[in-house]
Amino acid sequence: MTTLTVLGGGQLGRMMALAAIPMGVDVRSLDPSAEATARNVSVLTVGGLGDPAALIAAATGSEVVTYEWEGVPASSTRALEHAGWIVRPSTAALEISQDRIAEKSLFTSLGIPVATHAAVSSRAELKAALEAVGTPAILKTCRGGYDGKGQTTIDGPDDAEPAWAALGPAGDLVLEGRVPFDRELSIIAVRSVDGEVRTWPLIENHHRGGILRTSYAPAPTITDELQATADGYARAILDHFDYVGVLTVELFQLGDQLLANEMAPRVHNSGHWTIEGAKTSQFENHVRAVLGWPLGETAAIAPSAMVNCIGALPDAATILGLPGVHFHRYGKSLRAGRKVGHITVTAPDAVTLHERVDALRRLLPDDVG
Ligand code: AMP
Repeated sequence: MTTLTVLGGGQLGRMMALAAIPMGVDVRSLDPSAEATARNVSVLTVGGLGDPAALIAAATGSEVVTYEWEGVPASSTRALEHAGWIVRPSTAALEISQDRIAEKSLFTSLGIPVATHAAVSSRAELKAALEAVGTPAILKTCRGGYDGKGQTTIDGPDDAEPAWAALGPAGDLVLEGRVPFDRELSIIAVRSVDGEVRTWPLIENHHRGGILRTSYAPAPTITDELQATADGYARAILDHFDYVGVLTVELFQLGDQLLANEMAPRVHNSGHWTIEGAKTSQFENHVRAVLGWPLGETAAIAPSAMVNCIGALPDAATILGLPGVHFHRYGKSLRAGRKVGHITVTAPDAVTLHERVDALRRLLPDDVG
């Protein structure tokens, strides 16, 4: 029996386990909460992700350790590596993804364009950064931000002081020029132990309140050139780290240009559609990659959309009557702003997909999606 340990027991770990089980893989998870959603589909160790004893307890019995959250302390994955475990993706990739400035420096060194930005760690540096970057701009914490948390907009000089008051105490910051993007995209890629790279089609992402609400895949009206550019960015990052597993890069599209916003060294919310909409899901390919197995095909099998359920869930009996709809509930308690499930819609063509998404939206309570 092959056993895989996943650090973090959220919905990404749960869906990883759900992909691993048919391949005969036993999954062990580590999470601080006994209510972690991976509890139903894996052997859950309850403990801190920075707790050495908990890490050893969760990893014992597995040769390979992976993670479903980029907030896992790099000291934890490094300690497991030193103790002889294979950790995939490696600590090096995890560490860079935890620091927005290190991430942007890496992208730049690999020839991947990013937004104009400057490091900020004092009021004086914020002033200088605003002069260099200009407004409108976004001030972000370098570490620990997610779902739009840890960032604030600066539209003009008057916003500088409140922005500093809000984020100054949070540690190192980065000021980014606000990119006047046409749309947001993501590229999800996977690299095997042998260095084979496969990418899924580009995904179009819609956010509200800093949280991903809806994804469309394959993203409409993508040229071969744009897909090739995104594939090239992902490949450059993957090869740089000799990376094993799934990597996501969030992108801004401006005309025929793509800027990288950030990377996640893991499976991603914008890739949930791959469960029903692609030949191999991001979760299955991540498991295959980290266990050293050949990758599956990543082509889309149908135009797909994914609608997140944020803080509330629709009634299953109501939405499952629609054609092409699949419902995923994570078994989490409902709380405002919390991702508690998602709905995938597939269709034979793009027009039907939009009709189906519209029909679905009419059935959703206002607070879902
Ligand atoms: P992030 O935490 O960096 O993923 O940012 C969350 C969301 O804020 C992104 O998905 C964008 O919608 C928006 N955003 C972040 N950075 C920028 C930027 N430099 N320019 C324009 N929009 C941004």
